[in-house]
Amino acid sequence: MDYLFRFAKPRLNQEAMISDIYGALEERRDIFINAPTGIGKTDASLGAALTFALKRGLDVFFLTPKISQHKIAMEAVAGIKRKFNLDFGFADIVGKRNMCINDKVNSIESDGFYSACESVVKAGKCAYFSNAKSFDADSKGLAEAMENGHNSMLDYSYGKGVCAYEVAAKYARNCRVIIAGYSHLLNPYNKSTFLKKIGHSIDNAIVIWDEAHNLINIANAYFSTAISELGIDAAERELKAINSKIDLDYLKFAIKKLASRKLALGMPESFVEKSDMAELMEGEYEKLIDTLEKAGLEYIQAKAAKRSAILHVARFLRGFLDADESTARIITNRNGRIRLNVSCLYPDRALPTLQEAYANVFMSATMEPMNMYADMFGLANSKMMSYASPFPKPNKIAFIDENFTTKFTQRSNEQYANIAKRIMEIKESVPGSLAVFFPSFTVLDGISRHVDVSKKYVQRRDMASVATESLLKRFMEDDGSTLMAVMGGSLSEGVDYKNNSIKGIVIVGIPLTAPDLELKARIAYLDKRFDGKGMDYAYIIPAVVRAVQAAGRAVRNENDRAVLVFMDKRYSWRMYRAAISNSIEIADSKDYIKSIRFFWDLNNVVDEVVKGKSYKDAEE
Ligand code: SF4
Repeated sequence: MDYLFRFAKPRLNQEAMISDIYGALEERRDIFINAPTGIGKTDASLGAALTFALKRGLDVFFLTPKISQHKIAMEAVAGIKRKFNLDFGFADIVGKRNMCINDKVNSIESDGFYSACESVVKAGKCAYFSNAKSFDADSKGLAEAMENGHNSMLDYSYGKGVCAYEVAAKYARNCRVIIAGYSHLLNPYNKSTFLKKIGHSIDNAIVIWDEAHNLINIANAYFSTAISELGIDAAERELKAINSKIDLDYLKFAIKKLASRKLALGMPESFVEKSDMAELMEGEYEKLIDTLEKAGLEYIQAKAAKRSAILHVARFLRGFLDADESTARIITNRNGRIRLNVSCLYPDRALPTLQEAYANVFMSATMEPMNMYADMFGLANSKMMSYASPFPKPNKIAFIDENFTTKFTQRSNEQYANIAKRIMEIKESVPGSLAVFFPSFTVLDGISRHVDVSKKYVQRRDMASVATESLLKRFMEDDGSTLMAVMGGSLSEGVDYKNNSIKGIVIVGIPLTAPDLELKARIAYLDKRFDGKGMDYAYIIPAVVRAVQAAGRAVRNENDRAVLVFMDKRYSWRMYRAAISNSIEIADSKDYIKSIRFFWDLNNVVDEVVKGKSYKDAEE
């Protein structure tokens, strides 16, 4: 079978993946792909899906959680189109906020942006929108701009004075492939508007979900919201600034009363039922939300503000109203700060989209255990395929250090000092930089102060993203340094440490979620829903996935090499070891520090041999 593939030849295992995906599509089955970084999942999935879609007259959606992942998909599709001289269109569509060229609106953040856009459009005050309405999708240069990605489309739109989002959506009507964000199809609040705008339907499409291990968490966030007393105070100040008559005192009063009733005797958190907030829900609740939305917008316009606390209150009230049995309402008091949370435990309301597609392809480097994902997505009868690393085995070696644990009951300054000592020993045996990932900032801070190394880069709690990026850049440029960061954060997931800038990774402890009420509610909900598997699905597996994600930062291509140490005795327990062994092969060693040195010596020998010296020369 000849598949559409932009390069001369698929890599090792890539060909098998293409054929497996194609086979699943022929059977109209969903497929889960677990394949390590570097195997070429994007090219394989798009190659198989396009080959099938063009034959059967289907569309292809390639969805990613982050905009940065669009580029490679665009390149893969463009490469196929060029190589095979095919005649089909493809479009790169990012969120409207990233494509807006109206500078009176595009600096507004989050919810405020969408309300502001809607308002200027309704009032006929966005000339770019009006221009886009009559803009011809066959206009000269548009196809080229679209096929070069959303940034080039933005430049094009500035030149023509048209709304980039509207024109891109118009162009997408005739496209066979759409590259977009998860929320375009997964978020039920956006889905139908988006599909109507681009004139496509899901039932006629193969949907590829990149980094699909994130899908449940991303969808949960669409239905989760929270409000604090401070947030209401800020909204009240904004209302005063625009001389609004809306009074939020009763909302504050209702939350305070609820807190005193539910959080008696110093309890930090408690569940809240809808009926507990009957007074809040009384009266013209929907009308209040509308009034607040209008007032929030008025505030943004009058004060040229980037965001509005009033809009946040409106969003919370809507989320509270819409909350169903898959949601927990929890009131908390942390250091005297009262907060009311609406936390989605499982995204029942988003998942029907998955059933609608012609077929789905879910892929990730941490898609294990696949049957858990298939179960949670409601697609238990899917095909599940796992592929080995395309890199030679001596590239990576992993150990479990059973001498330590960060288990809450066993944490002590002495334990922290001993862990720090071991980290320093590992650092000494690694010829280059070391990254150490911790389960929380508390553990990071506790251990970091004992780690005495010359060049240390430490992630801090509440670090702004600009500061985090700068920390990352400095660490990558500083060979032989040590990075200390937390798991589940921006330095441990979705980030590429280029040029093999990390030679060793230490995973300290297990990044288990704090056992708070939300977690307990999620475990109970999933227990009921998935036959007693709540603990695994909500607690253990997500923690191991975070650890494996962090451990995966070092080896990104066939030339990279690294050692990995999982430092917590619980990793040797059957259920944890089984979960990490799905993605990483663990080596047994009586003295792993010695084994690490041997690993590097061996790799140096291999390097010398590759450079043309004989094995004997290298040994000498
Ligand atoms: S219609 Fe387009 S250009 Fe106008 S505000 Fe909305 S996104 Fe921006």
